Amino acid sequence: MEQIHPDVSKVILSEEDIKGIVARMGAEITKDYAGKNPLLIAVLRGAVVFMGDVMRAIDCPLGIDFMAVSSYGDGAVSSGVVRIVKDLDTKIEGRDVLIIEDILDSGLTLKYLMKNLRSRRPASLEIAAFLVKDVPGQETAVTPRYVGAHVPDEFIVGYGLDFAERYRNLPYIGILKPEVYGK
Ligand code: 5GP
Ligand code: MG
Ligand code: MG
Repeated sequence: MEQIHPDVSKVILSEEDIKGIVARMGAEITKDYAGKNPLLIAVLRGAVVFMGDVMRAIDCPLGIDFMAVSSYGDGAVSSGVVRIVKDLDTKIEGRDVLIIEDILDSGLTLKYLMKNLRSRRPASLEIAAFLVKDVPGQETAVTPRYVGAHVPDEFIVGYGLDFAERYRNLPYIGILKPEVYGK
């Protein structure tokens, strides 16, 4: 039984849960990209942990690359207007591109990125989201091809996900206590 961080109210996905989910997603991706050489693109920094795990669960030749974006506005609510802070080092024209995302909330960030990447003419462009946040009345702006798990409309940390750059190293997915982020 792992020790739960005192700022976390509840563990939603344990390390074992995560292993199972990643294996299942890796198998799905392996099947769909058989005979291809996809380029996995993760958006820094939250998706690096999932990237590290899922790439090892995919059994076909692949490449990886990273982008960093910063959103305009106060950052509390996703505006969907993002600035590319670090662009790809790889040309994606004609490549099968799979975006590796930690958590999809409104989906506005990825909608913008998809549009940007699509203009570079990849052969295909899909999303693998480890988590999708279920917000009542909200439809995500993009539809991920691969989804790990759905999470409730709470502030999620761990497995790469931060609050103020903390908690990324927690090996599980948990709900951050509202008093920690001052809700
Ligand atoms: P979207 O544009 O889909 O609304 O925002 C997605 C991004 O916001 C995620 O990639 C992540 O960086 C951040 N985000 C959204 N919800 C959460 C959350 O519950 N916890 C954390 N740590 N980040 C979140
Ligand atoms: Mg992200
Ligand atoms: Mg963050």
